[in-house]
Amino acid sequence: MADPELDQETDAPPPAVAPLLARANAPWLAAPAELLQRMHSQARFPHGLLLIGAPGGGQAELGLRLAAELLCRVAGPGRCGRCADCLLFDAGNHPDFRWLRVAAGKKEIAIAQARALTGQLSMRSYRGGAKVALVDPAEAMNVHSFNALLKTLEEPAEDTYLVLATSRADRIPRTIASRCMRLRVPLPERGAAQAWLAGMGPQRDWEALLALANGAPFLALDYAEAGLEGIDAEMREALARAADSAADLVAKAKSWADHAPAARLLWLESWLARELKAAGQSSDLVNNNRLPWLRGPGRDTKIRSGHRLLDRVREARRLAGGSLNLQLLFEDLLVSVAAFLAEGTQRAQE
Ligand SMILES: [Zn+2]
Repeated sequence: MADPELDQETDAPPPAVAPLLARANAPWLAAPAELLQRMHSQARFPHGLLLIGAPGGGQAELGLRLAAELLCRVAGPGRCGRCADCLLFDAGNHPDFRWLRVAAGKKEIAIAQARALTGQLSMRSYRGGAKVALVDPAEAMNVHSFNALLKTLEEPAEDTYLVLATSRADRIPRTIASRCMRLRVPLPERGAAQAWLAGMGPQRDWEALLALANGAPFLALDYAEAGLEGIDAEMREALARAADSAADLVAKAKSWADHAPAARLLWLESWLARELKAAGQSSDLVNNNRLPWLRGPGRDTKIRSGHRLLDRVREARRLAGGSLNLQLLFEDLLVSVAAFLAEGTQRAQE
C-alpha cells in the first residue's frame, strides 16, 4: 500500500516500529492482547476496533502489536517474529500496513491521508494476507477525515482491519464508534507500574514521573526522555507565586507554551481535580493543611468556581492539539488560577 505521492505530500517520517512493539509486551497489556488473539483465532477479530486509554496508556502500542499479529500468517497465538511478514513489519516496510498519524509540523491528520487510506484498504492485499491500518491518535482526525473512513467501516473488505487508538473517546463521532468494537486499555496499579519503570532505568525518580503522567507508564517514560522530572515542583512554585503577583504571568505563559505545554495542562488538570476532590471530602483536618484557599466562609462558592475552572482546563487540553495560540491560552488560565487562589486566600483570612 506504499503511496510515494502521499508520503511526499504528508512528509511522513518512517515510523520506528521496534521500540513501540517492545513496549507493547508490558504486562498490563497482556489481557487485552490475549482477548483479541482469541477473537482472531476464532475468526472474530473486529473490522473496526477502538482502543481507548489514558494519555500514554498503551493503546497505540497495543494497536501496533495487534497489527503485527494480524499480518503474521504463521499459526499460533501472537506473531512468530521470523516470517517475511514479521520482518517487513519490524523494518517498517510491510506493504499491507498503514500507520495513519499526524505528519511532521501538522496538528491534524489530513483529509487527504484518510481518503488515501480508504482507497488503499479497498484494494487487494499486496502479500495475499490481511490489510491493517492503525490510526493514532484517532482524535487527531477532524469530522471530514472520519467521514472518509466511514465507508471502510460500513463495507469492510475481506480480511481488512481498522484499529483506532485514542485517549479521547469523547472526540470520536458516534457514527464511527458505533461501528467499532470498543476496548478500554487498563492502566497498571501504581506499584506494578513503578516496578516496570524501574526495569527501564533505575536512576530516575519514577514515582514523581508517574505522578506527573497520571499513572500512565509510557507517558512517564516519555517525560523521563524529555527530562520533565522538575515540572511538578516548578508548577507548584509558579502557582504559589501566581497568587502573590500577576506581574510575570506573561513571561510564565510564554515559557510554558514553549516547553512541555501538554504536560503542564495535564498537571494543571490533575492538580485541580485532586484538590477539589479533597475539598469535597470535607475533612477539615486534611484540608486546613492542604487547601488554605478553600477554607472559611464562602467555601461552597469557591468549590463551584474551582469546578468551573477545571472544566476550562479540560477544554484547554482538548483544544491544545488544534490550531490554538498556546501562550494566550496559558495567560488566560494563569490569570484565572491566580484570581482563584487569591480569592481563596482572602476568604480564608476573613
Ligand atoms: Zn510471523
